[in-house]
Amino acid sequence: MSASIRVTVWNEYRHERHDERVAAIYPEGMHIAIALPLSANPGITVRTATLDEPEHGLSVELLDATDVLIWWGHLAHGEVSDTVVERVAARVLDGMGLVVLHSGHFAKIFKRLMGTSCDLKWRVGDDHERIWVVAPGHPIAAGLGETIEIGPEEMYGELFDVPAPETLVFISWFSGGELFRSGCCYTRGRGKIFYFRPGHETYPTYHHPDVQRVIANAVVWAAPVDGPRPQFGNARPRNP
Ligand code: ZN
Repeated sequence: MSASIRVTVWNEYRHERHDERVAAIYPEGMHIAIALPLSANPGITVRTATLDEPEHGLSVELLDATDVLIWWGHLAHGEVSDTVVERVAARVLDGMGLVVLHSGHFAKIFKRLMGTSCDLKWRVGDDHERIWVVAPGHPIAAGLGETIEIGPEEMYGELFDVPAPETLVFISWFSGGELFRSGCCYTRGRGKIFYFRPGHETYPTYHHPDVQRVIANAVVWAAPVDGPRPQFGNARPRNP
């Protein structure tokens, strides 16, 4: 691993270009709103990629030079090519970290790596969201208080059809009465995956300092480590 963690923030980048309510909140796109505070962290270098670039901006060369990929998608999951999905999946299995945000729960890459429907309940109704930290010693919770007051957000409710998280870092409470497992850690192969719930496009969630802190913490947690590569297949005895 290089001295600096190399992050690529991937964004579908459609809402911001076609919905003036979203453009008012994220005039340069959500990828820029996520990338800028991340790049202020020492030891993290950031670039961005978007759906409508060639290969969705996710060439072999770029992925090979990415330690952690952050993913935001919503409207156009079906437009992401299966070739790129398999390319990203292979990189995760080989050690690249993946941070999946909000409606990325339905991204092809997340469903591919989870193996379940990843479906959930939802409602855009200005519910108040309060995130509770339920793994206070976890690196992704570093620097947070007991809760994160998000304020008005889209509601996501259980059941969230994902495999049981290896560590559950956050639970969301919504004023409409639902609960949601909103910070879920997984490993797949040599790679780490973190799903983080908030971030509906019509709310200024990615401007929230605690949300920015969680994303930065998740990048550090998900960064590859220089562990051994698995050796498979027929094996000679170690002790002749
Ligand atoms: Zn949403």
